[in-house]
Amino acid sequence: MGVGHVALALGASKAAPRMNVGWLVLAAMLSDFLLGIFAMTGLEHATVPPDYATKHYLLFTFPYSHGLLALLLWAVIAAYLISRAYGSDRNRVWIVVALVVLSHFVLDGLVHVAGLPLAAENSPKLGLGLWNHMPLELGIETVMAIAGVALYLKLSGFGAPALGRYGMVIFMALVTMMTWTQLLATAPPKPRQLTVAWIVVPLAFSAIAYALDRKRARQVAL
Ligand SMILES: [Zn+2]
Repeated sequence: MGVGHVALALGASKAAPRMNVGWLVLAAMLSDFLLGIFAMTGLEHATVPPDYATKHYLLFTFPYSHGLLALLLWAVIAAYLISRAYGSDRNRVWIVVALVVLSHFVLDGLVHVAGLPLAAENSPKLGLGLWNHMPLELGIETVMAIAGVALYLKLSGFGAPALGRYGMVIFMALVTMMTWTQLLATAPPKPRQLTVAWIVVPLAFSAIAYALDRKRARQVAL
């Protein structure tokens, strides 16, 4: 899943309004960032199915970044590290960050075909395979993106800096378009390109969201 993760992060900002939404985007995409790190070390990888040109999706071996058991650990670590900066709001931030990290398992579980393991690679897997109905899947992600932006705009209100509000709308429109490009993919990406993208995209998206939300989050924190 692509923009759906970012959309969930924007929606979750309602539950922790004092927090910069950039942290939530990072939490929502943490699994993909970790996949890049584990792919670099050779512990995880993607395989290209023979019918990639018509199906447009990859199959994954990724128990350490996307397995439920591992994600529980990553959720606790991320929640601990991020919540430390939020004093009196610490407990609320801890819970919100942990749930957003875990949401990756549920959202990817809806779309992946081979599925996400509950624990080790040979354990039972969650995979509803919405990627087999790619236009429907991308339509759902688009609806999520619209809902996420709407919730964010409602949270930030009309008094919030215009740059942040309009910037977030444009950013989400671009991420939605990027997600739709999956439908056009016929040539499989190279493993090295994938690894770089898995690492860079979550960092870049969270940095952009952080920059756009900076003034709003500061105003609320005062
Ligand atoms: Zn993922």
